[in-house]
Amino acid sequence: MNSLTAHELHQLLLNKKVSSVEITEAVFKQIEKNEDKVKAYVSLTKEKALKNAEEADKRIRSGENIPPLCGIPIAIKDNMCTKGTRTTCSSKILNNYLPPYDATIVKKLDDLLAVPTGKTNLDEFAMGSSTENSGYFTTKNPWDLKTVPGGSSGGSAAATAADECILALGSDTGGSIRQPASFCGVVGLKPTYGLVSRYGLIAFASSLDQIGPITKDVTDAALLLNAIAGYDQKDSTSVNRPVPNYQNSLVNSADKLRIGLISDLMGKGIDEDVKKAIKTAARVFESMGAIVEEVSMPTFEYAVPTYYIIAPAEASSNLARFDGVKFGHRSKEAPDLINMYYNTRKEGFGSEVKRRIMIGTYVLSAGYYDAFYLKALKARTLIKQDFEKAFKRFDILISPTAPSVAFKIGEKANDPLSMYLSDIATIPVNLAGLPAISLPCGFSKGLPIGLQIIGDAFAEEKTLQAAFAYEQHTDWHKKRPKL
Ligand code: GLN
Repeated sequence: MNSLTAHELHQLLLNKKVSSVEITEAVFKQIEKNEDKVKAYVSLTKEKALKNAEEADKRIRSGENIPPLCGIPIAIKDNMCTKGTRTTCSSKILNNYLPPYDATIVKKLDDLLAVPTGKTNLDEFAMGSSTENSGYFTTKNPWDLKTVPGGSSGGSAAATAADECILALGSDTGGSIRQPASFCGVVGLKPTYGLVSRYGLIAFASSLDQIGPITKDVTDAALLLNAIAGYDQKDSTSVNRPVPNYQNSLVNSADKLRIGLISDLMGKGIDEDVKKAIKTAARVFESMGAIVEEVSMPTFEYAVPTYYIIAPAEASSNLARFDGVKFGHRSKEAPDLINMYYNTRKEGFGSEVKRRIMIGTYVLSAGYYDAFYLKALKARTLIKQDFEKAFKRFDILISPTAPSVAFKIGEKANDPLSMYLSDIATIPVNLAGLPAISLPCGFSKGLPIGLQIIGDAFAEEKTLQAAFAYEQHTDWHKKRPKL
């Protein structure tokens, strides 16, 4: 049961073939069986899960109109606030943090009576690409326990791939939904900036962060996006525009679709097997009547350096609030106020977070602001303009999601630069605020490869349709790891 998708289970629930309590128990049984190996969760919320499952079963029995995610077990990344439930950001500084409120998306899912299984592991404060930066432990890739699940939403992607949930939420600042989805052989969708409320998402880089679905197929991604999208007055960057029903975009057609294959992401630094899989995917689209042409995005080479100025700058400001006064950990070594601050942050933050705070503070400081931060903002505009030009010619753009399949645990842990480069294909999309989806498109050395489909701003429908059509013509998404 726990290996099915949300839309399959929804039908079974409606036909009274299973109950939500049975599904939930199957999921927790799988967690008990595999969690020792996978380590996807920081905390489990079985009590709350069963409570919602029972209520969902009651609602289903009542014959009321049942929304698709009612009674479906969902895992939530541990940087989204859950009222009264520990929310750590996988950081020691928030080890015992109990939020006094729910994130908007958590509340929305609770109102639908979705079933929250627990809070998933991430790189501390979502800074990383492997979950190795978690303040607690590294999550393992269910396809090969010696490799990373990607990051930062590695726990959510691994839990989904290992059937330790039916679907999950991740957040994506520079690739953190799509890259782990790619590494774990599942679907990951980063929505357009402003489509999904960030209220209650613990901020990393506020101009880049977005919450989105990690699922077993494209249909589930559309269903989960339906559940979380929409204007929220509690998030000042949330966009007030009507939200379509994304289920309507699940149409099996790519006829005359104009697709740009990003040539700059098909060259040096990208594994041969990955390139081959993307070229094959392009042929699949052509066989459906799509027109595929190469497109060059000359500013992409500046995307990673631009991101590693803007994201740390924003992070250094956002993380200033963790000072031992209002939230989480406070050092016991506190002879005076200043040393309380120093020691709290020294003890509470891991080394990658400290590195980002130092870089961010540096690029924002007087005398360096113009040379680094302001220049990065200008580069960001140029990257945006490259996309604008491309979307005059194309409906969607495609590329690999990541330059390689999942790497070994420890392989890049001491080499931040090479770790940063694993987001080369995803970062430009965040800088431009666009939607993009990663979906399975092949294997290399027994590990999944991800295809990235990028859409124009608020063109989630076209993006989902292309992904859905591709999925109908292939069966990569049906392959599951053997744990
Ligand atoms: N890997 C990137 C980073 O370390 C992106 C992380 C994210 O999207 N949250 O910043």
